Amino acid sequence: MADVTERGEDNPTSTFIFGDTDEPHDVGDTNCSAGWCGNEFPKPCKCGGLIHANFGDENADCDYWLYERCNKCGEDCEPI
Ligand SMILES: [Zn+2]
Ligand SMILES: [Zn+2]
Repeated sequence: MADVTERGEDNPTSTFIFGDTDEPHDVGDTNCSAGWCGNEFPKPCKCGGLIHANFGDENADCDYWLYERCNKCGEDCEPI
């Protein structure tokens, strides 16, 4: 069985896209910096995947929300 490599320099990393942006997030990359990732995200998910985030929208009170999507279980993600 192939080892799971954390860094995808030698093998193509799969990416996924969600929310309002077409910026690809790297599946399984804890250092993903696409979209809203890079600070608090990606977060580990209960399913063992990683939850990535994209900026959603902001209201007049400067409250913003994010698209959060797990690269394994999708929209049903729950941070650990
Ligand atoms: Zn990401
Ligand atoms: Zn998940």
